[in-house]
Amino acid sequence: PTKAGLIDGKKIAEDIRKEIAAEVQQLQKAAGRAPGLAVVLVGARKDSETYVRSKKKACAEVGFESFGTDLAEDVSQEELLRVVAQYNADPKVDGILVQLPLPKHINEQAVLDAISLEKDVDGFHPQNIGSLAMRGRNPTFVSCTPKGCMELLKRSGVQVAGKTAAVVGRSNIVGLPAALLLQNADATVTMVHSRTPNAEEVVRAADIVIAACGKAEMVKGDWIKPGAVVIDVGINAVDDASAKRGYRLVGDVAFAEAAAVASMITPVPGGVGPMTIAMLLQNTLEGYKRRVASR
Ligand code: NDP
Repeated sequence: PTKAGLIDGKKIAEDIRKEIAAEVQQLQKAAGRAPGLAVVLVGARKDSETYVRSKKKACAEVGFESFGTDLAEDVSQEELLRVVAQYNADPKVDGILVQLPLPKHINEQAVLDAISLEKDVDGFHPQNIGSLAMRGRNPTFVSCTPKGCMELLKRSGVQVAGKTAAVVGRSNIVGLPAALLLQNADATVTMVHSRTPNAEEVVRAADIVIAACGKAEMVKGDWIKPGAVVIDVGINAVDDASAKRGYRLVGDVAFAEAAAVASMITPVPGGVGPMTIAMLLQNTLEGYKRRVASR
């Protein structure tokens, strides 16, 4: 039996997109242009193509101009860096996103480092992560998925300060920045990873759980402290003969079990996923406002 309140990421993301669209309407006349996002796609991975398509669609819906470059799987690193440099120099572009993962022959780090700090709307530049980790520093951009997790907590009225939090996963793009953000919001944070011997125990002590380990339904209901708030970042396809496509999407948390114990929980899909794109738009809008103001 579901006891927990659902954190409706789809609805919250829609609200944010409306707020962004209204702001674009208001700002673009004086600025003389709309915010611009450039998306670079290398190769033809189905999942990456889907993400890029939905990012471009989201841009159009809020009145952004979107720029895109699709490069062949065997593109040279030099050519990819040239495309990034071109967008770095383009005054109509406020944000640049290179869809990951990149093919193996490309040095991903070198490409991410090449994106200008002022246009790094994914927040993956090491200087952005470094600033997030240091007290008294402000990153130019915070990565979209962890930022979306914090926005869900905020808009659901969850108090973070003084609470205990567990983050399952320590990747550069989700787990690590999520833990840093919780800590900046004055939670006491423990990070759990694949070498943590007592993951269950750590998670069970947490008032707030962010699960981002990429393992389908790994976090069980009895790992959750009664009344805890659970944010499930995971997106995993599991075989399901009864589903139309032959698979269904589940999170990193065993939803039904956890929902019986938690006070609030995000569903998968419809939780963190839609927030990631909303935060990408928000970051691009922030970059635009800074660039317009500094002209
Ligand atoms: P990674 O595979 O990069 O990282 C997974 C992390 O989980 C690692 O730190 C790993 O530990 C840890 N981990 C793996 N197995 C275990 C285990 N058994 N116990 C404890 N920790 C474990 O994944 P990402 O961070 O990129 O993504 C995490 C999940 O979030 C995935 O399901 C992904 O699909 C989803 N995702 C969703 C997004 C959204 O928009 N909703 C955006 C991005 C990701 P170690 O470091 O020791 O290897």
